[in-house]
Amino acid sequence: MADVVSPVVDEKPCFGANPQIFKLGLGKQHILAHDIGQGSQCRNEPTCRCEGLDLHFWRKMCKNCGCRMDEHDVVLPNEFDHAQIVIGRLFGAREHFEKVLTKPGMYKPTDQNDTKENNMMSTRSQPTAVYNYKMTSSDSESEKEGSNNKKKENVKYAWAPLPDKDLVSRYMKCLPEDERPLVGSKGEQNRKSRLQFQLPLYDCNVEDARFVEEKDVKTLQNFVENVRNNVIGVGRVVEIGKDSDNYGDNEDGNDIEKSMNAALKGLKVGETDCKDCSEIMKNGEIGVECHHHTKTDTYHPNCFRCETCRQLLVDNIYFFYKNKYYCGRHYADQLYPRCAGCDELIFANEYTFAEEKSWHFDHFACYKCDFKLGGSRYMTRDENPFCLDCYLKHFAKTCDTCQSKIGPDEKRLNYNETHWHAEERCFQCVQCKMNLIGKKFMLKSHKLLCSSQCKANYNSAHPDYQL
Ligand SMILES: [Zn+2]
Ligand SMILES: [Zn+2]
Ligand SMILES: [Zn+2]
Ligand SMILES: [Zn+2]
Ligand SMILES: [Zn+2]
Ligand SMILES: [Zn+2]
Ligand SMILES: [Zn+2]
Ligand SMILES: [Zn+2]
Repeated sequence: MADVVSPVVDEKPCFGANPQIFKLGLGKQHILAHDIGQGSQCRNEPTCRCEGLDLHFWRKMCKNCGCRMDEHDVVLPNEFDHAQIVIGRLFGAREHFEKVLTKPGMYKPTDQNDTKENNMMSTRSQPTAVYNYKMTSSDSESEKEGSNNKKKENVKYAWAPLPDKDLVSRYMKCLPEDERPLVGSKGEQNRKSRLQFQLPLYDCNVEDARFVEEKDVKTLQNFVENVRNNVIGVGRVVEIGKDSDNYGDNEDGNDIEKSMNAALKGLKVGETDCKDCSEIMKNGEIGVECHHHTKTDTYHPNCFRCETCRQLLVDNIYFFYKNKYYCGRHYADQLYPRCAGCDELIFANEYTFAEEKSWHFDHFACYKCDFKLGGSRYMTRDENPFCLDCYLKHFAKTCDTCQSKIGPDEKRLNYNETHWHAEERCFQCVQCKMNLIGKKFMLKSHKLLCSSQCKANYNSAHPDYQL
């Protein structure tokens, strides 16, 4: 049913965006469809032995290895980037999207007057990111001590905040090494995981949300529309104290306000403190600025993190809510419940709440066999629900005496790694048949005994089987 929902959101002109761009976005949709990404390698290898992603029919989980889909290295064709899809959908940034698509790495920030007519976007920076951005490592490595013979090394970043080699190089140095999205490095993989985790595509597009019922489509559309108009933004990488007028938005009022605030705090004009760690950011340092609404917030590049998960905000894309900055996932989680089964937001009024989590009715199901558990008994293990049959089959302990499974509602006795039914027939002295529940006992070669006397009696009765 969700497959025939019409793509209303994408056809609506938004911030003057060329509808072709959204068709492009839609065209790429089948890239993300269910069967694509099949066979992608699991990043948890070699601990996880996955033969390649085999996606469950509604869980965002690999049937082969049990890891999440975002833990697999899903490669999109044509070097298409997850972030470009999100930006295309949520910013309607026509210029950006077109240029990046035609000439990767060649994009220059343009005059933003054409978006000025839209007052809602005018205070926020438009995306200036570049993808697969090539530069040489010596572009600004002059401070590297003793290396007079400048070795030029070509480096390529999967993402860079803006096409400015000097700023990019200084910005990257502010990040931990494994968070720098250098192509071919762990940092690039980290970025990909963060993209999938922080910016679920099914949160920002009706087409991708497979489990939104027809009657709730409008709610999702309104949610997306509000994100576009009021919530999403990109932090801008700047050098503190440097006039950033050349980037486009010229807010005279803000400058006066800034210097007054600075004077009050005893800071030099331009200096500010990091909103996260509160340490002073001096002129010349690299910072990430957010011009959301009228106030400017500044962060150390490594402090610009989601308030909830504390991950670095991927590509500096933030969601602003009640004066705080979140990743897309944790912004949405504050407004709607998220299904613990399929990971999509739940817009329906009625859903299952179990195990302190929310589930679509149909997705509160056995983790092994997908049997719908609504109204039936179930067991949990590692926070996943199981039907009784599967639980018995996979996790129930075997009684050491009668060799049958101990049911989840049967009383059990445990001793180290050995288990019994807590019943007289299964927990008695092998010799005198005394009930041993609650009494002292000995365990010898899987035989229960009440005393050394019974052990001696047993041994004399069984000359060829000595305990
Ligand atoms: Zn896998
Ligand atoms: Zn895996
Ligand atoms: Zn900081
Ligand atoms: Zn988060
Ligand atoms: Zn679900
Ligand atoms: Zn089951
Ligand atoms: Zn038993
Ligand atoms: Zn005995």
